[in-house]
Amino acid sequence: MSAPGFDGLAIGPADVEAAAARLDGVAHRTPVLTSRTADERTGAQLFFKCENLQRIGAFKFRGAYNALARLPDAQRRAGVIAFSSGNHAQAIALSARLLGMPSVVVMPADAPALKIAATRGYGAEVVLYDRYTEDREAIGARIARERGMTLVPPYDHPDVMAGQGTSVLELIDQVGPLDALVVCLGGGGLLSGCAVAAHHRAPGVRVFGVEPAAGNDVQQSLRSGRRVRIDVPHTIADGAQTQQVGALTFPVIQRLVEDVVTVDDVQLARTMRFFAERMKLVVEPTGCLAAAALLEGVLPLPGLRVGIIVSGGNIALERYAELLVRDP
Ligand SMILES: *Cc1c(COP(=O)(O)O)cnc(C)c1O
Repeated sequence: MSAPGFDGLAIGPADVEAAAARLDGVAHRTPVLTSRTADERTGAQLFFKCENLQRIGAFKFRGAYNALARLPDAQRRAGVIAFSSGNHAQAIALSARLLGMPSVVVMPADAPALKIAATRGYGAEVVLYDRYTEDREAIGARIARERGMTLVPPYDHPDVMAGQGTSVLELIDQVGPLDALVVCLGGGGLLSGCAVAAHHRAPGVRVFGVEPAAGNDVQQSLRSGRRVRIDVPHTIADGAQTQQVGALTFPVIQRLVEDVVTVDDVQLARTMRFFAERMKLVVEPTGCLAAAALLEGVLPLPGLRVGIIVSGGNIALERYAELLVRDP
């Protein structure tokens, strides 16, 4: 297979390498775990990159910090704004604090209290809105305008994409060459960055994305050649409830990703239990997507050395307990 080029894409290998230099000593170099049981079950050799053990509990710290560290001084002083009810909120809040920048995070008033508290705890000013009557983009745009703040989106941004890809540079440093890489997929920031890093460091690597069966917009988009928009999907993978893949991430996925497969909520819950029981890892449902594709036999890759990104571990304990004991 000839190596695909990176021309015309939003990011290339040099951007991911530069991001890795910025994150050096700031982001955790997360561990890579293996499991004999998982290898026996899949007939492959699996390497789990544990981004659930990253700062803020998810890979999103990488992209957020990289994007903020790239801002010129004037923009740094004015600060940053984001809207998110999930891991991006905490990633922006912590990155801003580390860089001495003010930050505002716009969150729905009914977001889990724990997440609101965590985001405040990292030093962000949290602005709450009513998701049924108010438009968060309008609120965000107004605050950005009034205070001259820079808006950092959760996935469709070159610096965010490049930052996320650093997880795979590290993974390949840690375990050597890979035959395949499997990555979960919401808006595609993680998958696009990882695909660039993988093709750069492991030419000939096969890269796959995994999204929830209830929200297979990227699978549909790849089949139809245009970005399909769907209704908010109902799935326990709350980090992958995006309605449309990014304008910048999609061309990367089209060129560098072999296929996108899906797993359902029952398969995600079983995989969450596997991580807890066998590997002693707390992984949130979205973080189980890539592993579930292998462990549930959706994506058979026998005989191959396969990198699996475990993307995050943030879940309320009550919810975690409920999903663990539910017998699918
Ligand atoms: C945001 C997120 C994803 C999806 O990432 P994208 O870059 O939007 O594709 C997957 N897992 C976790 C834990 C996340 O926080």
